Amino acid sequence: MKDIVIIGAGYGGLTASALLAKEGHNVTVIEKNEQPGGKASLLEKDGFAFDMGPSWYMWPQVFENFFSEFGMDASEELELERLDPSYRVFFSDGDTIDVSSDVNKNYELFEELEENGAEKLRKYLDVCKRQYDIAMDEFVYRSYNSIFDFFTPKMIVNGLKLKAFSNFHKGVKKYFKNPKAQKLLEWITVFLGGDPRNVPAMYCMMSYLDHHHGIFYPKGGMNGLAKKMYDIAVDNGVKFKFNEPVTKINVENKSAKKIITSKKEYDADLVINNADYHHGETVLLDEKNQTYKEKYWNKKTMAVSMHLAYLGIDKKVNGLTHHNYFFETEWNEHFDQIFKKPQWPDNPNFYVCCPSKIDNTVAPEGMENLFFLVPVASDLEDSDQIRDEYLDKVIEKFEKWTGEKIRDNIVTKSLFTHRDFKERYNAYKGTGLGMAHTLWQTAVFRPKHKSSKVENLYYTGQYNHPGVGVPTTVISSQILVDELNKKGVLT
Ligand SMILES: Cc1cc2nc3c(=O)[nH]c(=O)nc-3n(C[C@H](O)[C@H](O)[C@H](O)COP(=O)(O)OP(=O)(O)OC[C@H]3O[C@@H](n4cnc5c(N)ncnc54)[C@H](O)[C@@H]3O)c2cc1C
Repeated sequence: MKDIVIIGAGYGGLTASALLAKEGHNVTVIEKNEQPGGKASLLEKDGFAFDMGPSWYMWPQVFENFFSEFGMDASEELELERLDPSYRVFFSDGDTIDVSSDVNKNYELFEELEENGAEKLRKYLDVCKRQYDIAMDEFVYRSYNSIFDFFTPKMIVNGLKLKAFSNFHKGVKKYFKNPKAQKLLEWITVFLGGDPRNVPAMYCMMSYLDHHHGIFYPKGGMNGLAKKMYDIAVDNGVKFKFNEPVTKINVENKSAKKIITSKKEYDADLVINNADYHHGETVLLDEKNQTYKEKYWNKKTMAVSMHLAYLGIDKKVNGLTHHNYFFETEWNEHFDQIFKKPQWPDNPNFYVCCPSKIDNTVAPEGMENLFFLVPVASDLEDSDQIRDEYLDKVIEKFEKWTGEKIRDNIVTKSLFTHRDFKERYNAYKGTGLGMAHTLWQTAVFRPKHKSSKVENLYYTGQYNHPGVGVPTTVISSQILVDELNKKGVLT
């Protein structure tokens, strides 16, 4: 059995550690911060409990699959609750639209939005389902070593037929003329850290998941999921070291021999880096051992960063549901100010999560837990003044669109933006999501699981295939462990 050191206790590190320990290996996870979960950390403050990162539990099959590896049922373990409505959208013209967990209601909704809207949504979601089926057969649960692993004959034929390589916006526009109908389907690309105009249409499989499989809330939120995965890892024998940043991966004869931390040194037969890929490569390794050097990263399209606000409100806020979007009827300017001319967006679209609507443990009685998220470009200037002014701007819109005053009811406030992503997670350019999912940063074009310079060094997490998101990060580690077994690396 091998001595395996994993750097980072994000979902990627938690998944890989639990699976490897289950096989009997001696696994140690070393984490810079004080708790497991990485981006899904928990902030407890003034009687509130804020999920600091992800809030959407989508694609339940992935978690079922992971929990079943340990003889468990995810929906029971996590006490999953299906949200209805799945989410609410506030448009700048005053319209408020609920997307239901019942797809039939969504057909009715689209029928109201445009002529034959129900039929168009049915046809669009059929295409999304076909993309999903192809993805599950050909694309998601596999590793990529060459471009031919991605552009397989089946992938090319189906991809061209379904226009999978065209951009997401074009794919939606082919079916829907109404700008609101378009936005109700296109918002999902923000999950991939991108813009509907730079994310390939193949990712419309996520709309199929959204409309047919639903959105859930796990007990304790997304940090509750991370804690459950941590418990599984510990029960299988994984040792965790917290508050212990790794400072160096020592390489001798092309092999990672020692992991140096702020406290001590660890010997390893195999090392898996779940920390930000750029950090693992360019900070923890000497230049001669780097597969992807600084100039590689400089050329990449980074996913969005975020302006986050964790707000405790000393009253109930009417009109909100668990997940709420606030969209301008014209939103391209916002995306342009992320990807084309990076700057703080003048007229932001944003998301507000209000978990206290269904979970009474996240806020004191009679109060509300609000999480504001504005997608912004990575690497922007980030001062206390800018972030405060920006929150003001967003709250002004929120109050106008919902008709609910909250400014004078804020009893606790924490802001989190670029410099926090850098300081807390060592995130390159302060990005929240790593690399965007443009076509040329998909599958085989994402950084590899295996270092090409250090023979026993591997990577897992949102930078690897299949990419950004909680379920995809779990899959990334499942793929890695599978590959290690198939290639006999663990014997
Ligand atoms: C605000 C926000 C909202 C999101 N919303 C959603 C959502 O609703 N649904 C969804 O599916 N996805 C969402 N995502 C994306 C999802 O959270 C991430 O893709 C996923 O959590 C990434 O996991 P990971 O394991 O790759 O990396 P991380 O979570 O970044 O884990 C890496 C770990 O490595 C540690 N580390 C870094 N450097 C070192 C070092 N030198 N030594 C030791 N440890 C180190 C870090 O502290 C961290 O704990 C969101 C992300 C953010 C930021």
